[in-house]
Amino acid sequence: MIQEIERECTTCPGESRHDNADNGIYDGKGPWLSVVIPMYNEEENIQPLFRRLFAVLDEVDVSWEVVCVNDGSSDATAELLLAEAGRRKGTVVVELARNFGQHAAVMAGFSVSRGRWIITMDADLQNPPEEIPAIIDCFQKGHDLVGTYRVARHDTAFRKWASRLTNRIITRISGIKLRDFGCMLRGYSRAVVQGILANPEYRTFIPALATFFAGNPVEIPVRHEDRAAGRSKYSILKLFSLQLDLMTGFSMWPLRILFLVGSGLAVTGILLAALLVIMRIALGPGWGAQGVFTLFAALFFFVGAQFFALGLLGEYIGRIFQAVRKRPAFIVGNIFRSPPA
Ligand code: UDP
Ligand code: MG
Repeated sequence: MIQEIERECTTCPGESRHDNADNGIYDGKGPWLSVVIPMYNEEENIQPLFRRLFAVLDEVDVSWEVVCVNDGSSDATAELLLAEAGRRKGTVVVELARNFGQHAAVMAGFSVSRGRWIITMDADLQNPPEEIPAIIDCFQKGHDLVGTYRVARHDTAFRKWASRLTNRIITRISGIKLRDFGCMLRGYSRAVVQGILANPEYRTFIPALATFFAGNPVEIPVRHEDRAAGRSKYSILKLFSLQLDLMTGFSMWPLRILFLVGSGLAVTGILLAALLVIMRIALGPGWGAQGVFTLFAALFFFVGAQFFALGLLGEYIGRIFQAVRKRPAFIVGNIFRSPPA
């Protein structure tokens, strides 16, 4: 489904099927391009990011705006953003009421953006702004979704391994073929963004969800860099949460713990069974109290499996619960706009 093209590509098999990739949804009032950047405690990165980003934008031949979403930062991100917006044209600052998480912040940025093409990127310079022209190029070729995959990724071995596993699992169970679900330097046409915003299931993964609304997607390689400053906002627990595609909410946690306890029990059962086999071989048939221990192992496994199943059911019930409650994914506090660029 997704076309893969080489970098120089951008010879994206040209002659666009969709000259007007937004299906007429773009109202023509906003700039051509919106760059949406979620920020959570990124005070050290704002200046270097803006320096590089605006240098790139000054060179592109389309009109643009930069939409920065302050996702409830507790450091000086808010003040710095406002100072920058006051100094530079074409900047929009969206302040969320509290921390809602990266994907919700991107969603808030989508809802405020007015561009015909929307590019998302991280604030920590792991996504080089210099890649933006390559994405614009793909839009100009008529693609309505520009996916990316990171070459020579700069992250810990654990993160790379976890991403590979996630990519494989999501591809397997969803049938969505993306090389790199985690890279947020991506491009979306207005039609795709409107589709995402209108979809009540938007608490899932934006890059994956976007493929549902795209008619002419493409994937290109992009560079990846070390985080310029500060630390990743994703702890292992947060990553786990993301893996399960769930948002915050107290009522969901007991279900997750159930899920983990079940898995632990099942693993214990399997280990116990393995131990029994070894003991049986080593010590002979007299050992093992006529199979009582074996029974324990089997019991552990099945009890664990039941908890696991319950936890999984809980995940789905939790999703239904959230959908029924219709709680907003984000709450916008203030929006500041500087004059158009
Ligand atoms: N981010 C956010 N809200 C959060 C966590 C992260 O807006 O709750 C932003 C963060 O400021 C950055 C981007 O999402 O711009 C990616 O976060 P991070 O670099 O921590 O993720 P990683 O690169 O480790 O996956
Ligand atoms: Mg990062």
